[in-house]
Amino acid sequence: MKTNSCDYVVVGSGIAGLYIALLAIKRGSVLVLTKGSIDDCNSRSAHGGIAVAMG
Ligand SMILES: Cc1cc2nc3c(=O)[nH]c(=O)nc-3n(C[C@H](O)[C@H](O)[C@H](O)COP(=O)(O)OP(=O)(O)OC[C@H]3O[C@@H](n4cnc5c(N)ncnc54)[C@H](O)[C@@H]3O)c2cc1C
Repeated sequence: MKTNSCDYVVVGSGIAGLYIALLAIKRGSVLVLTKGSIDDCNSRSAHGGIAVAMG
C-alpha cells in the first residue's frame, strides 16, 4: 500500500479551507480533502455582497 505524508491536512475546499491552506503552505506541505468535486461548496455561490433585511 502506498502512503503519503504531509504537515497539514485541511478538510473542505471552500473559502475557509483554501484560505487556511494558503497560510499553512508557508509552514509546510498541505493536503486539501474535500467532499465531491473541488467546486462543490457554498463559496462558489457567493457573490461578495452583504445581505441585510430592509423594510
Ligand atoms: C447562494 C449563496 C449565495 C451567497 N452569497 C453570499 C454573499 O454574497 N456574501 C457572503 O458574504 N456570503 C454569501 N454566501 C455565504 C458564503 O458562501 C458562505 O458563508 C461561505 O462560502 C462559507 O465558506 P466555508 O468555506 O465555510 O464553507 P463552504 O464554501 O460551504 O465549504 C465547505 C467545504 O467543506 C466540504 N465538505 C463538507 N463536508 C465534508 C466532508 N464530510 N468531508 C470533506 N469535505 C467536506 C465541502 O465540499 C466544501 O468544499 C452565500 C451562500 C450561498 C449558498
